[in-house]
Amino acid sequence: MKIPKRPTVIIRSCPTYDTAVIEQIIREGLETLDLTPSGRTLVKPNLVAAGEFFPHAHTRPEFGEGVLRALKARGGDAITELAVGERCGITIPTRMAFRDSGFSKMIESLDGIETYYFEESSQVEIPLTHPERLRDYVFTPEPVARADFFVNMPKFKAHPWTTVTFSMKNYIGIQDDRHRLIDHDHRLNEKIADLQFIIQPQFIAIDAITAGEGRMLTPTPRDLGLIIMGNSQVAFDAVCCNIIGVDPLSVDHIRLTSEYGFGSTNIEDIEIVGDVTLAEAQERAQGFEVGLIRVEEYFEGSKITAYAGPPPDEEHSNYCWGGCPGAIEEGIEILRQYDHETDEKMPKMHVVFGNYQGNIDAAPGEKVIFIGDCCQWEGELGGELVQIKSTYTHRAAKDPHKVKHEDIYSKMLKTNTKLARAKKSTHVRLEGCPVSVAEHALALVNLGKLKNPYLDPTQAIAFNKSYLSWRGRTTLNRLMGKKYQQHGSYADRGKAQPVLPDSDE
Ligand code: SF4
Repeated sequence: MKIPKRPTVIIRSCPTYDTAVIEQIIREGLETLDLTPSGRTLVKPNLVAAGEFFPHAHTRPEFGEGVLRALKARGGDAITELAVGERCGITIPTRMAFRDSGFSKMIESLDGIETYYFEESSQVEIPLTHPERLRDYVFTPEPVARADFFVNMPKFKAHPWTTVTFSMKNYIGIQDDRHRLIDHDHRLNEKIADLQFIIQPQFIAIDAITAGEGRMLTPTPRDLGLIIMGNSQVAFDAVCCNIIGVDPLSVDHIRLTSEYGFGSTNIEDIEIVGDVTLAEAQERAQGFEVGLIRVEEYFEGSKITAYAGPPPDEEHSNYCWGGCPGAIEEGIEILRQYDHETDEKMPKMHVVFGNYQGNIDAAPGEKVIFIGDCCQWEGELGGELVQIKSTYTHRAAKDPHKVKHEDIYSKMLKTNTKLARAKKSTHVRLEGCPVSVAEHALALVNLGKLKNPYLDPTQAIAFNKSYLSWRGRTTLNRLMGKKYQQHGSYADRGKAQPVLPDSDE
């Protein structure tokens, strides 16, 4: 894939989710960029979470419909397969996210659109060779690796771990749970940059009609009334950052991807066109709240007191932006949606991350939770010496071929058993690297006697139906020997070694 010498980003005004208007804007965008979809055309939305409690977390189906219609009209018979594929937030079946977001219904209403739930697809190994890589290969679902024309269709949102989630961050959904959680720690930005080598989108269209401020799962809606399109991922994210007044080089995955040769973040190097100028877009987004907030500050004024020491590899970061501390923030935000009394019900407690060497000011009866494999602490709790040692395993010792899937029911059993055993203890240790959003939520449900969103009776039947279909499909894949495919012809086609700009695409 060639990175355009002078990439183009189109900023268009679109005040409503009118499918016909969206389709027209996308058609014009494809024309401006001189792009014609052909072959296997795969659209990747952001459906991280959906349904009643997450209305602003995902790309809206009206937006998806407009994009699919425009691609169909532009590509015609040159398209051999038009598909939508995604892996939503881990532990939730992606089938649920398609259903709850309205994507399933929308896709059914159109003719001949294929759907891929990436955690149910066989996984293809893609080798990485750039010197800065975290590991020598990564896995991605087969539909991604074999796509001829890849369309990235994210939602314009803030993110608590990576400041923003625009185009590049949407790639976290091109891995299944097992592979997604590998390196989802203090090196998350490097992981995202590495994922760029799997495939580059020919076309990007972001849903910024109603954007999401502050958080990624439960953001505050912000009407920007914009559709932004582009043909280069770095340029695209750089323009989106500029719209909200964030320096793109301050977002590590954007800076790294640019350094790896995927294009410049300099606005002077980007052709910005459309019926909204950059200045006008900036005006609409004035004061846009991004999500980066340390866990100690996040819990200030609540019944939870947080302490965060540095993760391993201190030379890279003195805070784990991609792992456990951010996951607990998202976990409690989910619980607040399901149970409005979450903060009142929560007992006073203390949560500790990383190599924390300071005091823990826990009164009698207040539980201390040491979170994550890298957690270390030594001191007195309830008059007794407590020594928490790091069990962190270096990433070099984690083999993506051998990593196992852990589903929500086993996480629930593990978390509840651990907390039950530690009922009378001053403290408890939650293991994992990372401890996922779901595990944090389950632990808080247990400690605060909160409503368990995973056992919500209004969702239970649909959840279990989707869950059984997912597990049934992956079992079938395994029986057919399709669990993994080694690097082969698909990967050769999908692999996106950047080619320095020598021509326009
Ligand atoms: S255990 Fe958690 S906090 Fe520690 S490095 Fe892993 S993800 Fe980060």
